[in-house]
Amino acid sequence: MKIHEYQGKEILRRYHVAVPRGIPCFSVDEAVSAAGKLGGPVWVVKAQIHAGGRGKGGGVKVAKSLDEVKTYANQIMGMQLVTHQTGSSGQKVRRLLIEEGADIQKELYVAVVTDRVSQKVCVMGSSEGGMDIEEVAASHPEKIHKVFVDPATGLTDADADALASKIGVPAASIPQARAVLQGLYQAFWDTDAALAEINPLILTGDGKVIALDAKWNFDSNALFRHPEILEMRDLDEEDPAEIEASKFDLAYIQLDGNIGCLVNGAGLAMATMDTIKLFGGEPANFLDVGGGATTEKVTEAFKIMLSNPKVEAILVNIFGGIMRCDVIAEGVVSASRAVGLKVPLVVRMKGTNEDLGKKILADSGLPIISANTMAEAAERVVAAAAGKR
Ligand code: ADP
Ligand code: MG
Repeated sequence: MKIHEYQGKEILRRYHVAVPRGIPCFSVDEAVSAAGKLGGPVWVVKAQIHAGGRGKGGGVKVAKSLDEVKTYANQIMGMQLVTHQTGSSGQKVRRLLIEEGADIQKELYVAVVTDRVSQKVCVMGSSEGGMDIEEVAASHPEKIHKVFVDPATGLTDADADALASKIGVPAASIPQARAVLQGLYQAFWDTDAALAEINPLILTGDGKVIALDAKWNFDSNALFRHPEILEMRDLDEEDPAEIEASKFDLAYIQLDGNIGCLVNGAGLAMATMDTIKLFGGEPANFLDVGGGATTEKVTEAFKIMLSNPKVEAILVNIFGGIMRCDVIAEGVVSASRAVGLKVPLVVRMKGTNEDLGKKILADSGLPIISANTMAEAAERVVAAAAGKR
């Protein structure tokens, strides 16, 4: 789960990471009065959406008077902000952050992520702040420095200081940078975050170290123990189909292709998507119905998949282990009837009660294309989707 920058900065503040004074706003009038409260001479009007790259997309503007605050707030509030992270249709801006302007001398980058290889929390930093870290990783990988933290000690003073110095923090500001890194690490740890990124972390003209941006992503599986984080959820920023899927405990992620996939098990779902691509197709979604899917759940899954207008064919790929193939077949048949299925449907099922499942599909009278292997299933669904166009 993601949150807005202003909410991320509230968390940082609690962990004694310095951030500019700022006020979140829901209208242009609120923005102007917030600027008045903060006092000048320089303000920054910042679009709050769950995507980075807002600056380049025109969603971050520096204002030098209250009139300018009003002009920029008017421009940004309600705009469809397009960044490299929003997709081409962009995201509507419904909230602004009005912040005091900072005196930027240098922009740095720091972030905390979970490193799967070492199974540790990794604190990383770079002297190249303000730009995309993916770009830095590609062009100057030597400029990214990492510390893998021992969970028993946390981020030590020595490790924090060494990292700060490697990314170009001058000696006089090292104690402040240490507080930022340790606060960020602790906040990440305490909130079960998956990503905590400050880009840029700045050095000011008078040697202060301040977080100008805050990007957070939390592990959804741990949200049950963080009601205070869950409260920050903004459903306007989430895909409606994904919200609907989460209500039914379905793991669903919408993608750009035209082949809907309904699979049980995340690993099989990924393998299915790979196989579709191998045969020249593009998956329209990732969908894992889980181990204990009922007819109702399969029906909901179908509805959600079909609410995506791009879907031109569906592939159901089930391994009957705990899940029985006949239950899935019943679900597929009743879901196809309930939604009045109009796109070709390819089904492959293997495992427990496979024959019974196949019989249910065959007896249903629905125009279901069956397949025996993953390759056959992928080939047929790609052909079916192409045939429809
Ligand atoms: P994004 O990463 O989505 O583009 P940022 O919050 O990083 O958004 O803002 C983009 C740029 O705008 C920053 O790199 C910084 O140069 C400038 N900026 C952001 N907030 C402030 C601020 N409070 N004072 C001065 N400049 C700012
Ligand atoms: Mg940023």
